[in-house]
Amino acid sequence: MSRCLAERSIEHVVVERGEVAHTWRTERWDSLRLLTPNWQSRLPGYGYTGADPDGYRTLPEVIDFIVGYARAISAPVHTHTRVTSVRRVDEGYLVRTNQGDWLCRALVLASGACNLPRLPPFAARTPRHIASLTSQDYRNPEQVAEGGVLVVGASSSGTQIANELHLAGRPVVLSVGEHIRAPRVYRGKDIEWWMDAVGILDQRYDELEDIARARRVPSLQLAGTSDRSTLDLNALTAIGVRLVGRLAAITDDGKAQFAGSLPNMCALSDLKMNRLLDLIDERAHENGLDDAVAPPHRLPPTCVDMAPPLGLDFAKDQIKTIIWAVGYRPDHSWLEAPVFDRKGMVRHDGGVVPSPGMYLMGAPFLRRRKSALIDGAAGDAHDLSAHLESYLNNKAAPLMGRSGEATRASRNVYV
Ligand SMILES: Cc1cc2nc3c(=O)[nH]c(=O)nc-3n(C[C@H](O)[C@H](O)[C@H](O)COP(=O)(O)OP(=O)(O)OC[C@H]3O[C@@H](n4cnc5c(N)ncnc54)[C@H](O)[C@@H]3O)c2cc1C
Repeated sequence: MSRCLAERSIEHVVVERGEVAHTWRTERWDSLRLLTPNWQSRLPGYGYTGADPDGYRTLPEVIDFIVGYARAISAPVHTHTRVTSVRRVDEGYLVRTNQGDWLCRALVLASGACNLPRLPPFAARTPRHIASLTSQDYRNPEQVAEGGVLVVGASSSGTQIANELHLAGRPVVLSVGEHIRAPRVYRGKDIEWWMDAVGILDQRYDELEDIARARRVPSLQLAGTSDRSTLDLNALTAIGVRLVGRLAAITDDGKAQFAGSLPNMCALSDLKMNRLLDLIDERAHENGLDDAVAPPHRLPPTCVDMAPPLGLDFAKDQIKTIIWAVGYRPDHSWLEAPVFDRKGMVRHDGGVVPSPGMYLMGAPFLRRRKSALIDGAAGDAHDLSAHLESYLNNKAAPLMGRSGEATRASRNVYV
């Protein structure tokens, strides 16, 4: 967004509570690799130029990439500046930070979609002697006590953490809810390549009948492995991870209860995966690609116990740690504006928030299916910066700036 605003000569600042790439530095596990291939991290005017376009960036490489971009575009970032409140004043917004206040006419909320773990209410019943970590807290197996681990959630984070802990010698039980299965490589190409090529990732928010549902869909069950292997439930059971259904409750006497829907969840996930692959085959055929890529193939169905265990006794089963990998939600607790829906999410129409000159970035399916990926930022920033520019041009409001410092004018603040 900063790059798009600069291109339109819109004066702005970027305020960041930590260092550039703060969430990648502080909220990810050590071994994480992007699940999107290198070529796919395309920021406005900045892409991958290395020798391994089909590889997956390691965490230090992601940090370097984002820091390098901020430097390349000379983004006006104010680091260690935490926004503590935002409220509407006159023709703009008063943004309070731990480094002083800003006044601005337009505001872009880009503080991330994954600030807080989305824990079920019964997580609070976790027995005291069991360590409880979220996927944001988890760093590496050394941090996890010897003994069994219950990993809750089988999307990209849960499956990767379950795999790593199992390989480190911890017996792992994986609780599986709704998940989206996909092969890492299909017909010789990365699944992300196919989804990009057939236009799925560019699908627009206003083309869908049920956008609310599409925004709740979990991330693809994918991992950026060095051998480009598929890390699905079959791969995990093959190494000895035990699968159970969706965690439904934790009882006061220290037991976990699971839904019996595991076989159905997996069958549904297989069905959706095969529908996606059918669509890819159809488009490949229409575009004359059949001879240019490998022939169609399918993964075997997910192999699960038709009567999976419905309970787990933490003591008897020697579970010492629970890792919650059940998704995230944004933290806009500092935003004092009537823009929230009944679930506490910022209301918006493709990123345009119903408050004058306020915009949202980085949310799931904001304007396109890929909006919550790094690759989604360019298109969304392009569209929203155009809207923001016309908003500023149509408003005859005076320039504003740092409160009490009339000479430091900034028309836009980017959080
Ligand atoms: C575990 C995980 C794996 C992912 N893997 C991939 C992947 O493989 N490929 C991919 O494309 N995407 C991936 N993503 C999504 C990726 O994180 C987003 O695409 C990208 O980070 C969105 O960038 P952003 O700037 O909108 O949000 P963020 O990266 O979350 O940045 C928001 C920034 O706002 C700052 N901030 C928050 N609150 C305040 C405040 N009050 N005051 C000041 N600053 C504040 C934060 O410190 C942070 O630096 C992954 C996400 C997660 C959680």
